[in-house]
Formats: sequence, structure tokens, C-alpha cells
Amino acid sequence: MVADKGKESHQHDVLKSTQTVIHLALDKLGYPEEVFELLKEPVRMLTVKIPVRMDDGKVKVFTGYRAQHNDAVGPTKGGIRFHPNVTEKEVKALSIWMSLKCGIVDLPYGGGKGGIICDPRDMSFRELERLSRGYVRAISQIVGPAKDIPAPDVFTNSQIMAWMMDEYSRIDEYNSPGFITGKPLVLGGSHGRETATAKGVTICIREAAKKKGIDLKGARVVVQGFGNAGSFLAKFMHDAGAKIIGISDAYGGLHDENGLDIDYLLDRRDSFGTVTKLFNDTISNEELLELDCDILVPAAIENQITEENAHNIRAGIVVEAANGPTTLEATKILTERGILLVPDVLASSGGVTVSYFEWVQNNQGYYWTEEEVEEKLEKILVNSFQNVYDTAQTRRVDMRLAAYMVGVRKMAEACRFRGWI
Ligand code: GLU
Repeated sequence: MVADKGKESHQHDVLKSTQTVIHLALDKLGYPEEVFELLKEPVRMLTVKIPVRMDDGKVKVFTGYRAQHNDAVGPTKGGIRFHPNVTEKEVKALSIWMSLKCGIVDLPYGGGKGGIICDPRDMSFRELERLSRGYVRAISQIVGPAKDIPAPDVFTNSQIMAWMMDEYSRIDEYNSPGFITGKPLVLGGSHGRETATAKGVTICIREAAKKKGIDLKGARVVVQGFGNAGSFLAKFMHDAGAKIIGISDAYGGLHDENGLDIDYLLDRRDSFGTVTKLFNDTISNEELLELDCDILVPAAIENQITEENAHNIRAGIVVEAANGPTTLEATKILTERGILLVPDVLASSGGVTVSYFEWVQNNQGYYWTEEEVEEKLEKILVNSFQNVYDTAQTRRVDMRLAAYMVGVRKMAEACRFRGWI
């Protein structure tokens, strides 16, 4: 993987550092300690065991989680991750980030997240189907279109969403497209959902570049990770006239000062976003992050920019397309160095925004065109960026704390109005 070092301890840090910033944000907003006590962990966390009959006839038992951070604003919402490094703490942190994203783009949701400890790269199509259906059966009591709405995340895709929707519909005895988002178009998916995260990141990059006076035409961009977010983002930036001088996947990076042939790389990548294995002349992910560039986009996994390498980052803007790629210490270093950091909870909120559009379309049974989706996404993301940027300026805080302040406020208010705190 991009960085496997110290899995469990890193995940621990991810939850802890999220709690640290939530605490700071609530303090700045003037909320008392009990609000933090309520919001520092998910209100509900389910651990499930999923027995799956493998192709060799043997049964393998998988462990899965579903975390529901806070449902004061509305049903919880967030993806399901299939990954060998999934841990309970990581899922908890990811569910908190989903709450923040929903708050920042002002959706009527709280945050949720799911994960299964597995490696889909080593599993057959049928094994994946059985695992996906087994997971839905195991969590079915706490999810549903008005309770908790899952979606894709790392190593899950529209096919997996389709199996899960079908399984839930059987249990529910209704066709329930609103149970899950990120579905194929023919099953009630939304136009623009597949590219939504990358579109949102692209909008944030454009807005951040304006603030820094960087012209996107000819800007040198480095993208770490070539999955759903990274690959489409590289394509959008390339189409906007930027030069993608570096990309990477879990196995290494490619670097070309003259700009990489993004269309060729997109064509050659596999469904897990792997492409560098085809090349001999690769660099490491560590080297990639330190390339001299205008815009750096970590679009892979957590804890990539740390206090160890933050001083060596040579970008003017860092836009986090992945969840949690920069530690708090690194955030401080980058901000002090005058690098504009657009945090994950803002930059990667395009995915859940179009997921919301998908759910709305499912609920009303009337579907929008790609143009309608794009126009609505554009408006929401531009406003959200400006809101976070202005908060950072007026409250004299970094962009991460500003995003947390914007993200946590609605949830705290909703808890208040409900009489919970
Ligand atoms: N998994 C995505 C995220 O981390 C999308 C969640 C959703 O669409 O609900 O934002």
C-alpha cells in the first residue's frame, strides 16, 4: 500500500486528531464540554461477523463495522470501505469526517461509515457478491433510506452498491433504491456520481488557485493515488490545461516534467487504480510528494504528509482529496510556511453531495440530467469553499479548523434544538 507503516497506531492518531480539532472548533464556537462529550465518538457502532462461503468451498468469517456518528440533523450517510487495514477506530474517525462534510456542504444528514476487513484484490467476483450481501444482512436493522444510507468508498464500486441494494430490497420487501447511493444508473444511480468527488476537488483547486493567484493553465500538478478520486481529478485538471507532472498508485509513482499522458494512463489503470506496475522507471510515493509543483493533491490514504516530510513539500497549494492524508502537526507546518491547505472534509465533499442528489432523485422518482447535477454541485462547492475560507480569515484559524467549525456547528445546533444537550 502507499504507506502501511504502523497501521493500528496511525488509525488511533486519526481518531485522536479528529477529536482534537472537533474540541477546538466547539471551543471557538462557544459550546460547553458536554457537546464535545457527545460528538467525540459515534452515537452507535456495530461490529458484525460475516460468514462467507469461498469458491474453494470453505467458509471464511469476515469482520465488518458500521458507525453512525450523529443523527440529530437527519439520517446518517457515508461509504463502505473494503480494505485489509480497516480498523474500528478508523471507521469511527471516518464517520466523524462524514458528519463534518455533510455540515460543510449543508446536507440534511449526519455522518456514518462502514468497513469490512478484507482484500478485494484477492477475491473473486462471486466471493465479493456473497460478502456484500452478507454485510447488508448483518447491518440491516440499523440502516435504511431514512436511517443510514451507505455509499462507495475505498475499493467498493457501483456493482457492490447494486448487490447491496438488491439484498436490502429483499429484506425490506420493497424496491429500495434510496437505501444506498453510488448505484449504477439503471438502478437509480445519479448522473455525475462516479466523477463527483473529483469534480468537487477540481472546484476547490480552482477556487484555491484564484486565492493564490495561480493560473491553472500550465500549472504543475502532482496527484498521489489513481483511484476514483485521483484518476478523474488528473483527467479534469489535464483538460483544464494543467500539466500533470506526477501520479502514483499503491506501488509507486510516475514523474515527467513535460506532463504525463493522462488519457493513456486512465486507459491502462485497473479497477483498483493500479497502473505504475506497467512501468520500470518509477519513483516512490515519498519522492512523489516532495516534487516541485504548484498543486499537490493527496488522493490516496491517511497520514501521508506528516511532520517528517511537511518541511519538504514544495507545492503552493495542497488539496486533500483523500480522507485524512495530512496530520495535524503537518497542517501546522504547511500553514506556517504559507501553503494553502484545503482540508479533506471540504475538498472531498463532492461525492456525498451528489450522493445526496441521488437519494433525493430516488425519493421523488424523478431524475435529473448531468447538467443539472453539475450546476447544483458547482454552486454548493463554490459557496462552501468561500464559507470556509472566510471563516479562516475572520477567525484567524487554519483552513482545517475553519472547516471543522463550519462542519460541526449545524450538528451541535440540531442536538440543542432536540434537547439532547
Ligand atoms: N465515501 C465517500 C466519502 O468519503 C462518499 C460518501 C457518500 O457518498 O455517502 O465522502
